[in-house]
Amino acid sequence: MKILVINSGSSSLKYQVIAYETREVLCVGLCERIGIDEPLMSHKTNNGKEYKAVRDFKTHKDAVFAMVEMMTSKEYGIIDDLNEIKAIGHRVLHGGEEFTAPAQVTDEVKQAIRRCFAWGPLHNPANLTGIEVCEEIMPGIPQVTIFDTAFHQTMPAKAFLYALPYKYYEDLGIRRYGFHGTSHMYVSQEAIKLLGKEPEGTKIVTCHLGNGSSFAAVKDGKCVDTTMGLTPLAGIPMGTRCGDIDPAIVPYIMKAENLDPDQIDHIMNKESGMLGISGVSSDFRDLAATAKEGNERSQLALDIFTYQGKKIIASYIAALGGVDALVFTAGVGENDVNTRAEMLKGLEFMGIEIDHDKNANLRGKVGDISKEGSKVRVFIIPTNEELSIALQTVELLGLAD
Ligand code: AMP
Repeated sequence: MKILVINSGSSSLKYQVIAYETREVLCVGLCERIGIDEPLMSHKTNNGKEYKAVRDFKTHKDAVFAMVEMMTSKEYGIIDDLNEIKAIGHRVLHGGEEFTAPAQVTDEVKQAIRRCFAWGPLHNPANLTGIEVCEEIMPGIPQVTIFDTAFHQTMPAKAFLYALPYKYYEDLGIRRYGFHGTSHMYVSQEAIKLLGKEPEGTKIVTCHLGNGSSFAAVKDGKCVDTTMGLTPLAGIPMGTRCGDIDPAIVPYIMKAENLDPDQIDHIMNKESGMLGISGVSSDFRDLAATAKEGNERSQLALDIFTYQGKKIIASYIAALGGVDALVFTAGVGENDVNTRAEMLKGLEFMGIEIDHDKNANLRGKVGDISKEGSKVRVFIIPTNEELSIALQTVELLGLAD
């Protein structure tokens, strides 16, 4: 059974076709710069065929047509007929409080996604466009939405409510929603399997460290706290995002530099974090290389990241009342040996001990880097949001029965 997974962004469309039974990725593609100059399409199949070309995509509809053409083409195709696609799973950024689980696309669901536009002004409209274009071009194929926020909806009010006047929660929905939910769910479920336990009674801290980073505390398989907030700007400093700062800094800089809300938003989202501190790069590989050459601000950015991460891990262990396993995932978590070691340094008193040889030799694949006898297991689990979306799509539609 073949499932199409789509991530529709404001000017891009990413897709994968996954074979449910074998979990094999049959093809993966990207249409970028849609509606901008020189739109580009790339498409790769599991039998090594690769396509890359400048295309004339004016709209997402053009991109979906191109995707269908490529998937069914003689040279680069992986299906003979569109009917072989049994369902489509769409990634949607924000489901607000409306969605605690995946949902099959209906008019009501589309309406609810529209109600969440305010929370994901860049992503949600683009996600909905992807859904509507697929409905038009591939009618009759069931579609499912998977929300980045849904996994975190199990957080209790004490974890999700901000200490602002309560009316802002009631009237405007201001609260912590959390993101990277599909990733935190996927890696925590995989960690529970590695522990050989049922979800009930397990305590796990998941560390999704990439260009965007977030942590989640997962108890009994359910999220009880996470670091991102109303938007993905909150939590640990990230590639270009500032993460948590004193909120009074915002009006202070706005007044001092005579900035409007969009300008300060841009500074906090695009010019801060690792890039803002180092002045060098948002990329952890560049930071490590320049720090090694003696760049003090690159080293400082890395130190801030690992120090803040350590504090979050320890506080989540307190929130959980203990921990069975930590999981590192995403670009930095899966590959950056030094960041992992630094972040865990000093947490031995909590039963977290890693084997430095195992850590140094494990990149980008599933494994356990904890020391023999460590009370807490430390897993590396590459995230696979597309596979998780495909599996959740099949489950919701009952297609595997
Ligand atoms: P992601 O957003 O999950 O794709 O992660 C992107 C981040 O992962 C970038 O900052 C990369 O520098 C970092 N990254 C990817 N591979 C490595 C690696 N081998 N070592 C260190 N950092 C890496």
